[in-house]
Amino acid sequence: MEIIHLLFILAFGACVGSFLNVVIYRLSRGQNMVFPGSHCPKCGRAIRWFDNIPVVSWLVLRGRCRQCHKPISPGYPLVEASTAILVGGLYVCYFWLDIRDGAGRFTHSWPMFVAHACLLAGLLACSIIDISHWIVPLEACWVVSAIALAVAAAAPPSSQFLPRVPPVLGAMGLAAAIGLGVSLLLQRMRLLQPSFIDARDPPLKDTGSEESSEPPTSIAISKAHGVNPRLEILREVLFLGPAVILAAGAYLLVTKVPAAGQAWAQVSTEASGWPAGNFAAFQAALVGYLVGGTWIWGIRILGTLGFGKEAMGLGDAHILAAVGAVCGWIVPSLVFFIAPIFALLWALHLLLARRQRELPYGPWLATATLVVMLFYDGCLELLRPYFAAFQWTRT
Ligand SMILES: [Zn+2]
Repeated sequence: MEIIHLLFILAFGACVGSFLNVVIYRLSRGQNMVFPGSHCPKCGRAIRWFDNIPVVSWLVLRGRCRQCHKPISPGYPLVEASTAILVGGLYVCYFWLDIRDGAGRFTHSWPMFVAHACLLAGLLACSIIDISHWIVPLEACWVVSAIALAVAAAAPPSSQFLPRVPPVLGAMGLAAAIGLGVSLLLQRMRLLQPSFIDARDPPLKDTGSEESSEPPTSIAISKAHGVNPRLEILREVLFLGPAVILAAGAYLLVTKVPAAGQAWAQVSTEASGWPAGNFAAFQAALVGYLVGGTWIWGIRILGTLGFGKEAMGLGDAHILAAVGAVCGWIVPSLVFFIAPIFALLWALHLLLARRQRELPYGPWLATATLVVMLFYDGCLELLRPYFAAFQWTRT
């Protein structure tokens, strides 16, 4: 039975990988995700369903288009196979090797697994687009975050997979989310201006080449447009204003007004079962999303104010926010400190190999996330003495 699960997950992973190919190709070129249907990028003719089977079709066609016989990039089956291996590997690690406490049985924990698998697939897509185009597709991060919030609310994962937060933090998270919604609305009404608006990356030219890794030096663009990074980052501070104010208000309401605090504790206990347990899990995912985003956005704001040039991409903040929505607040916090180690090791390797190949930060966040997801229990054990300070991180 479990072999059938694995085979099904591998096949499903390959199909997700096939979809990722579409995401990678079209999102980085600003094309529509649905229309037109799959077509050969060389001759433009539609690909029939039996030529669109992940990995298999590429092997059967020996890497050539059936109609124009031009070669099809091996990148496509590679992405499909990588996704299948990532997702299948995660299944084996969680449910066969039991490397994580509280994984339970697949038949019961599959919604949690779907969220984690979507995160890995999203991170793979983000990494590939980031490496080849120096852009993080925010849409991919949003989709993963939305799936995570929905799974948390509908089928709460165990607290080992989604650490619950105390009611006061949950209230602050909900208030901050409302604040972000307000800011987005104000931005849509053009009452708030987006930051670095003139320094936006120019639209990609569809050169047909798979790899075009020219890092768009945002500093050069900023200078050319006369953008003052310190002034621009203040726009982002303004954007975050409503979220911070509402979160502070929620904190005061829950802690200083006894009646409000008691009422909130009643509807939002760490209890299990419908609906209190679902609400608690949803808050945990939401706080995870905000904590993940705050780490990088905070450093971005401080760094830009301090050094006077754009520090850290906003896309990286969205990546870590998605990680937090899926895994709760602890994983992105660990990733935030571990990812720089990977990036530094790579920089050292480049230095020793005397090669000049800059890499964006997104792939390092993705690598660190995978490592922390797999070795989470060990990381927590190492940090237990420090976590003792927070009496609410019960695991
Ligand atoms: Zn063709």
